[in-house]
Amino acid sequence: MGAESSYQDLITFRSNTPQYFPEATAEEWSQTKWQLKNRVQTLEQIEKHLILADEERAGILLTGTKLATAINPHYFNLIEADNPGCPLRRQVIPRIEETLEDPLEMADPCGEDSHMPVPGLVHRYPDRVLFLVTDRCASYCRYCTRSRVVSGVSEQKLEMQWEKAFEYLENTPQVRDVLLSGGDPLLLSDSRLEKLLTRLSSIPHIQFLRIGSRIPNFLPQRITPELCQMLSKFHPLYLSVHFNHPRELTLENKEALERLANHGIPMGNQSVLLKGVNDSIEIQRALLHKLLMCRVRPYYLYQCDLIQGSSHLRTSIAEGLEIMEGLRGHTTGYAIPQYVIDAPGGGGKVPINPDYIVERTSEKVTIRNYEGKIFTYPEPQPTKASSISL
Ligand SMILES: *Cc1c(COP(=O)(O)O)cnc(C)c1O
Repeated sequence: MGAESSYQDLITFRSNTPQYFPEATAEEWSQTKWQLKNRVQTLEQIEKHLILADEERAGILLTGTKLATAINPHYFNLIEADNPGCPLRRQVIPRIEETLEDPLEMADPCGEDSHMPVPGLVHRYPDRVLFLVTDRCASYCRYCTRSRVVSGVSEQKLEMQWEKAFEYLENTPQVRDVLLSGGDPLLLSDSRLEKLLTRLSSIPHIQFLRIGSRIPNFLPQRITPELCQMLSKFHPLYLSVHFNHPRELTLENKEALERLANHGIPMGNQSVLLKGVNDSIEIQRALLHKLLMCRVRPYYLYQCDLIQGSSHLRTSIAEGLEIMEGLRGHTTGYAIPQYVIDAPGGGGKVPINPDYIVERTSEKVTIRNYEGKIFTYPEPQPTKASSISL
């Protein structure tokens, strides 16, 4: 009974009615500019609304030189005031654990800096590139794999030389797929983004473009009809969004995703498996079902990168595998993301799967299904010509 009602509760799309911003007019609330100008950033601003744990208060004061704290009102408004375990809060409010030093953690866990032929352009796989076009986001995720260069407070700056990147791409015909990321590309103005997309789509060997963005989650107000109209001029254009918890999918987020889908933009979701946020089958199932209702196909579930200061958010791989087992066969195949580890040091994304093969010989494969029942599949055997009677 309890689980049933909590599932129903989790998959309900609710309107995000301002609770912490009583002074905001409906007009202001709907503006990207207002949402960015009124980001919650200081201890004082945060404590005005939330009851903080000591670990959070210390975290807010001590982590500011590594990754800025900033939460735009739409997202901040979804945080529970009196629950330090709130799954949305854990993603954006720093904790003192971020200052813990773990020798296994890295500043650049996916080895991006060593794979940049041009500053800001990561060319790891032969046929596609990751193009970092800005260092800013609407709000900052505490587990950001690129915290070394985003938010503008750390020593390392994201170097961007767009013109050099365009030249590299023009001269590298094996690149057929360009993924724009950052920072968040949808924070660029419509006109800057349009210029960027125009330039990239004029390169003949580039077959399609992709954008990776958490704006449809943090700031659905930015997904205006004008933005969607502009983006739809660049088809085929794919969008990877980033939702980690079903409560992030409010009615306003659903409407923003529907606007994008109605403009013909195929969407995938990339989420990160995070301790205390989405590390249960129940939460994952509700998230994945809600995404499908918003016409977003779950794409990747990332094992949390070994980014400095993330130990309190990382789960074991065993837990990730258990979640994947709890999905396959138990829910719609379309709902199931691929669980991956972005190999530390720069090996790229590696799929991690529960093992459904019980035994494999040259004659047959023995497999188990989602219920644990055992089946065999015979391997093709060489046919002896002499056994065929002509
Ligand atoms: C994730 C990533 C890509 C895209 O990978 P897909 O599996 O094609 O989505 C490309 N380049 C880099 C460096 C990446 O990290």
